[in-house]
This record gives sequence, structure tokens and C-alpha cells, in this order.
Amino acid sequence: MSHVLEIAPAERHGQAILEWLKERGAADGALAAKAGGVLLDLNAPLPESGKIEILTFDDEEGRETYWHTASHIMAQAVQHLYPQVKLAIGPAIAEGFYYDFDCPQPFTPEDLERIEKEMAGIVQADLPVKRIEMEKQKALDFFGKQGQPYKVEILQEIPDEKVACYQQGDFTDLCRGPHLPSTGAVKAFKLLSVAGAYWRGDERKPMLQRIYGAAFPSQEQLEEYLRKRDEALKRDHRRLGRELDLFSLPETIGGGLALWHPKGALVRYIIEEFWRQEHLKRGYQLVFTPHIAHRRLWEISGHLDFYAEGMYGPMMIEDEEYRIKPMNCPFHMLIYKSQLRSYRDLPIRYCELGTVYRYERSGVLHGLLRVRGFTQDDAHIICTPEQVGDEVKGALDFALFMTRAFGYDELQVYLSVRSDDERGKYMGSDDDWAMAERCLQEALESREVKYERAPGEAVFYGPKIDIRLKGVPAKLAQGPTIQFDFNLPSRFGLEYIGADGQAHTPVMIHRALLGSIDRFVGALIEYYGGAFPLWLAPVQAIVIPITERHHDYAREVLARLREAGLRAEGDFRSESTSFKIREAQVQKVPYMLVAGDREQKEGTVAVRRREAGDLGPRSVADFVEQAKKEIETRGRRNC
Ligand SMILES: [Zn+2]
Ligand SMILES: [Zn+2]
Repeated sequence: MSHVLEIAPAERHGQAILEWLKERGAADGALAAKAGGVLLDLNAPLPESGKIEILTFDDEEGRETYWHTASHIMAQAVQHLYPQVKLAIGPAIAEGFYYDFDCPQPFTPEDLERIEKEMAGIVQADLPVKRIEMEKQKALDFFGKQGQPYKVEILQEIPDEKVACYQQGDFTDLCRGPHLPSTGAVKAFKLLSVAGAYWRGDERKPMLQRIYGAAFPSQEQLEEYLRKRDEALKRDHRRLGRELDLFSLPETIGGGLALWHPKGALVRYIIEEFWRQEHLKRGYQLVFTPHIAHRRLWEISGHLDFYAEGMYGPMMIEDEEYRIKPMNCPFHMLIYKSQLRSYRDLPIRYCELGTVYRYERSGVLHGLLRVRGFTQDDAHIICTPEQVGDEVKGALDFALFMTRAFGYDELQVYLSVRSDDERGKYMGSDDDWAMAERCLQEALESREVKYERAPGEAVFYGPKIDIRLKGVPAKLAQGPTIQFDFNLPSRFGLEYIGADGQAHTPVMIHRALLGSIDRFVGALIEYYGGAFPLWLAPVQAIVIPITERHHDYAREVLARLREAGLRAEGDFRSESTSFKIREAQVQKVPYMLVAGDREQKEGTVAVRRREAGDLGPRSVADFVEQAKKEIETRGRRNC
């Protein structure tokens, strides 16, 4: 971890920080420094006085410095090998680094190996990494002469008179820094992949080649990282979606629009049915609403003001403008308004699996995670101020129940509230906000849920509870939200007649448990590595006759399983039993039921479990009973 040192007045200022650390025997693991909130190279002169924080690989900024230096080394290697290549940018990212290159031909895996070798040479040479401050004009001339148009473009946008460059050997890059003191400080590295990336993420700009890499202070750390990465790649929902035939996103349809294949659709159907049943149990009412609506609805709701960039363009019907819905809420407001409501009617809880369409740039689309059309598990609770405390608690209980039902035991919970500054940008009165925050906080505390306050994370129309799922990649982790809304009830003029005979504005809460069904299924696929628990598995059991003379018995077993409501299939191909078992394993089928002479004679099946292997013979009735129990308890993934 970082450690903080005090610079004594008598110290030799102007000496490089690294030298100073060495003299004190404190240079081990040091990568960069920080003083007065400013990041410094270890080659930088020691500040006059005060505290100096020494950053190591355990610190985020230390790692970033490490990875950013590795990206410079990679760019230098690329420049040596392919002098015609133009350099764009090369930052550190959450888990490593990349550099974007404009080159006529995409890099091949062999190219990456060549680049790695060249990088090894640069590391071996242990070139000092020097910071050079220069006039902006001088830098413009320098990079212009070098034929680096992207650097020139970046420079032209920098308002400062002076800019910083970093130089190592024959390589100079425009860069804010900081960097490691020399190229030899990068110990173990690997180039991982190449992908196309638009300059500045803009589809109208040139397509660049992005090389991703990883670097670590030791070979062991690198190998550990690569092992984990491999594991994550195997769990990638896009890959598993293809291998298990769950869904696809063909280019023919356009970006970000998913097709749910039969097995994926079955998983989704099971989830949605479970969702509906649980809502009905809790006094929610199911509704359905259209996919498009007249422009005036989006004017009333305000979406055309504050959400226009997320909506797709107008379509005309009889010269009137319609829009595709980005959200379901306005429709639910109108259902509420279809009648005069009394306090006796409240709370009202509408729920819908509503498919919405939102604008996403093609550059950010990603499997089921970022799509242009997706189904939201939406609900709106409309109630009196007296009821809202219980309603929030009910919604929180429901959220916790749902996440646990799917096997997510570890959650990260946030109470998202206003930021202290910029109060003006929020809807609703201070009293509204205080009441809403109190409700959310009380609900969390009464359920003994550990949470973090997140100032500034509320949306403009109300505070919320955000629950994130642990055990899935951060980008997939979005879980339930419970969100106050001080905007829509007044925009739509929602009212109820109180016990006093007067009209009042009700309180409204948006609530999603799964968020987007599409993203939720994507996350589930990764969480379980495609091996769904029995209750969610599209195929729960596969009956495998050993030879043809066991076919009739196998069909009989299959019929009994289906009769009992199990999703079972038979493998009647003339392949070997071991081949069929292997294939069922690859398809992640929870149970394989082998039927041969002995089983036929005794009316049993030889049960194999996906994870546990051979479980021995069991009567068909026993197997059915046990499987049903496992489904009922939504048995966790390991059995
Ligand atoms: Zn840089
Ligand atoms: Zn809503």
C-alpha cells in the first residue's frame, strides 16, 4: 500500500524523488508519488516540503502509472516495427492498458508476438523515461513533422501554453504522465487481443486498431491474471449464448437487437413466469402497454425535453408524430388516471414486462448487456404519504427475495441521494426529499441491510436505493432499484380523494427488480457459467439409452419425466454412451439418466449429475421426487 513520508526542511530538494527514496531504503515497490494532490514521476525533483505519498502497485494510481508506461513501451515497439503506423492514444484501463493505432492492415496474432519481443528489448534496455515540458507550438511542430495527425489534433484542443511529453530512447509521446522512472521497471507483460475501435469512439471517424495488454510486477501475478481472464472468457455470455444456443444478435437485424432462440426463450419464460407469480402474490396488478405513443404523451411526461437523445426519431401515422417508447411509466400514469381514485383504492401497484427501445451508439453495444431494445421488469407503486414507508419496505423485501432466489447472496447496496451543491437541478421540495430519504433509509435499517450513501447519484426527480449484484462482472452487476419520483405525478396531474374529501397528489415509486431482463439473463449466464440451477435449466434431464434395445424403455422413462412436468429430452442417436454424456456435459444439462439392461430390468435409471458425476441407480419415481424438491427450493448451483 501507499505510504506517506514527511519531507524535512533540510532535505536536498531538487534531488530526484527516487534517489531520495533509495537513500532512505524506501524505494521498494515505489512506482510514482503524490504531493499536494498532484501525481509525480519518481524522476521528478523532491518537493520543497510537506508530505509525499509513495504509490505502489497496490494503489490504483500506482497501477495506472505502471500500465500506462507499458502502453508507451508497446507504442515504441510498434513504431520500431511498423514506422508507417500513426499513434492515437494509449491509456491505462481498469485491468491493464491499450494503445490505438491507425494502420493500413489489422494486426495479426503473429504481429502481437513480434511486438512483444520488441517490447522485451525495450524493457531490457532500461531506458530512462523523461518528462519534457515544451511550448505547445513546439510540440505541434514536432508531432507534425513526425507525421502524427492524431497527436496534432489532441494538441490543438489543449488550451494551455505549455504541454508535457514523455521521452524514452527514440520514442516521444504527448502525455500528462506520470510514468515509471525507466522502461526496465515493467517486469512481466503480455499482449492480449486486438479489436477495432473508432477514433474518439465516433462511428464517423477512422477505425483504429486497439491492442490490449496486461502488465504486472511479477510473472506469477501475470499468470494468475491470465488464468482468471481465461475463466472469465469461458463465462462470457456472448460466447455461452452461442455455444448453448440461447440467443443471437445477427447483423442483418441491425445493432443491439436480440433474437431469443428456443432454449434462451425457455429460460426467459421461466424467469418471467416466476416474476409474474411473485408479483400477483404481493398484490401487484399486471398491465400491458403499447410500444409506440403519440408525441403528446412524451411532451406531457417530459421525455421529449429531458430524454430526447435516448429516444428514436419520429414515425408518422396519418400525419401525426409517434415515438417508440423508451420507458413504460407514462402509460402506467394514464391507467391510474382512467378513474377517479380514492385513498381507499391505494396503494396501487402496476407491473409490466415492458419492452422499451433506447438510443445507444453502435460503438457501445455489447451482447445482451447494451442493446437497443430490451424488456424492463417495471413496476409503479402509487400510494398515500402514510403508506409509503410500508410500500418501500415491501419493495425492498421483494428485491431481496428475488436476488436471493436467483442465487445472488452477496449484494452491494447504495442509497443514492442529492449532491449538496446544485440543489437547483432537482425536482421536488426539500421536504419531499427529506421524507423520501428517510423512508428509504428506514427500510434499509429495519431489514439490517448494509448500505453506502451515494451523494449525487440520485436522478433529478428523486432519491433511490440501488442494489448491485456481486459475483458478476461490474458491467453486468445492475440489480434492483427503488426510486421515488416527484416529477411524473405532478406532470400527469395524478390525484386521489383523501379521507378529508379533498384532492391530493399521491406518492409514486418506480421499482425494477431485475432491471432489463436481457441484461439480467446475460448476467445469470456469466454467474453460472451457463450451468443454470435445475429450476432454470432449459433442459433439466437427458435420458441416454445405452443401445438400441433400450430405446423403448428410455422412451417410457422420458414420458414419465415429462408427465411429471420435468423438461426432459432423450438422446437416441447411435453414438456411444460416453460421447452422449460428454455432449450433455458441454450443454450443461443438470441430469443425465442412463438406461441399460440392468436399469430396464429393475425399472431404474443410472443417475449422473453435471457437477458430481455418477450418483448410482435410482427408481424413476425417486428421481422425479428428488428433482421436484430441488426445483421447489430453487436449489443452489452446487449439488
Ligand atoms: Zn502517455
Ligand atoms: Zn418508471
